[in-house]
Amino acid sequence: MDLIPERVLVITPHPDDAEAWAGGAISRWARAGAEVHCVLCTDGSKGSDDPEVDPAELAATRSREQIAAAEILGVANVVMLGHPDGELEDTADFRKDLVRQIRTVKPDVVLTSEPYRRNMQWHRDHRIAGQVALDAVFPYARDHLHFGDLFANEGIEPHKTANIMFWGSENPNAFVDISNEFDTKLDALMAHASQARRRTREVMQAFLRSRAQEAARAASAHPVEPVPGLTLAEAFRRVTFRT
Ligand SMILES: [Zn+2]
Repeated sequence: MDLIPERVLVITPHPDDAEAWAGGAISRWARAGAEVHCVLCTDGSKGSDDPEVDPAELAATRSREQIAAAEILGVANVVMLGHPDGELEDTADFRKDLVRQIRTVKPDVVLTSEPYRRNMQWHRDHRIAGQVALDAVFPYARDHLHFGDLFANEGIEPHKTANIMFWGSENPNAFVDISNEFDTKLDALMAHASQARRRTREVMQAFLRSRAQEAARAASAHPVEPVPGLTLAEAFRRVTFRT
């Protein structure tokens, strides 16, 4: 997929999800001149297997790691909504927060987590973030009368997003060549040092490489729009909207 968006909004459930699943596309687009913004939905305060860890300290560490990773990928800014890790809900307040960000950034691509996995395990926050992001894109950010106070009180105009791309999909239909971005993606993921635990850079590199090779194979075997010749890719399910 050769699309280079002008503006991208990344909606990520936890620190490190976007880097692991879409860090290559984000870096590629930012390097090509796209303006990339990120919304981090939760504080990542449950992301540890150490029962002694202080959740508030972990959240502070993870927000620092998120900023560092965003800088590596060329993300312009990160908005942190600060919901407790594991407690995302499909509420009007959360949807409104995402509508505000969509209407402010005016993205042509929203990148987020697949809400509909049927056969593979998926974190609850990943499902909820993807579902609420999809609803926020269409129809809530599009129509004046939804959250009309955003326009009345904050002067924020509605926005029509052209594409939403879900990472972690079981049925990808859009592929991004990340062969030139692979090391940057790995650097960004390694910036989340609290999550590496006992995994060394070499272990993470092998894990990311095998996933990128699998996405490249899926690209060349795609039944509708095969994309041959990729060696390392990221795979997304893309939904397009009339703008
Ligand atoms: Zn996650």
